[in-house]
Amino acid sequence: VAVELSPLVRRVVANNPSAYTYQGTCTYLIGRGDLAVVDPGPSDEAHMRALLAAVRRDERITQIFVTHTHTDHASAARTLQAKTGGEICGFGPRLRTEQPAVTMPFDRELRDGEVVAGRTWTLEAVHTPGHASDHICYALKEEGVLCTGDHVMGWATTVVPPPDGRLADYLASLEKLLLRAGDNHYLPGHGPAISDPHRLVRAFLTHRRERNEQILSAVGEGTATVPDLVRRIYDENRKTVWPAAAASVYAHLLYLLETGRIDLVGDDVVQRSSRFRRRA
Ligand SMILES: [Zn+2]
Repeated sequence: VAVELSPLVRRVVANNPSAYTYQGTCTYLIGRGDLAVVDPGPSDEAHMRALLAAVRRDERITQIFVTHTHTDHASAARTLQAKTGGEICGFGPRLRTEQPAVTMPFDRELRDGEVVAGRTWTLEAVHTPGHASDHICYALKEEGVLCTGDHVMGWATTVVPPPDGRLADYLASLEKLLLRAGDNHYLPGHGPAISDPHRLVRAFLTHRRERNEQILSAVGEGTATVPDLVRRIYDENRKTVWPAAAASVYAHLLYLLETGRIDLVGDDVVQRSSRFRRRA
């Protein structure tokens, strides 16, 4: 079911709830008459029906924007295009060679700062790598709203899975949002709208810096591996999130390695199974 969030924004939540997607992926319909979609969502017939039902008879979807190519955000893009003819837009050309989750040559590749406008809406691409190297937030100029995808969500901090996810990029992308004035509300890819968003962004920065220090001191107690650190830092009772926790710890270790605060033990090349030691 579509919910009207503001004069220009409607939201349809896909039925794909999980430990990683909260209640499901949020698909946003933006504008009046000629519409932009931000994140078509997962491949799911019921979601597609709900999305198309939210488009009124005198309206049509002209653009389909993708925040990043993870399946829960981008899988439905081709189907939606087949039904509406909308142009698929996303970040490009890709920065890294890893396979994206959804292989998708975009009809239109957007770079940081690029603006696309319809008759009633203007969206600016804000490149925000970290969760994924191709991640874009979209700023709706008319309403002071930023669609934040998986970069900033209200219900949980995002996952930064290496190698495509990179903590140094993520921290820089959070700082980048703090420099932007006029984004009064965030509309995330999962979970409810966020007001007073800079406060949340600062809290995420603090959380990551504290986690860096926590991991650094844990590594300081002896050589450590990713599983050692996950066991030491994360709650026994929330083992469902341990795979994500392992990716996160690894991302922090790579960051500490890049910034010269820890060393690799034994291996020549860093990998998930590597052992680390605090630099003296
Ligand atoms: Zn994602």
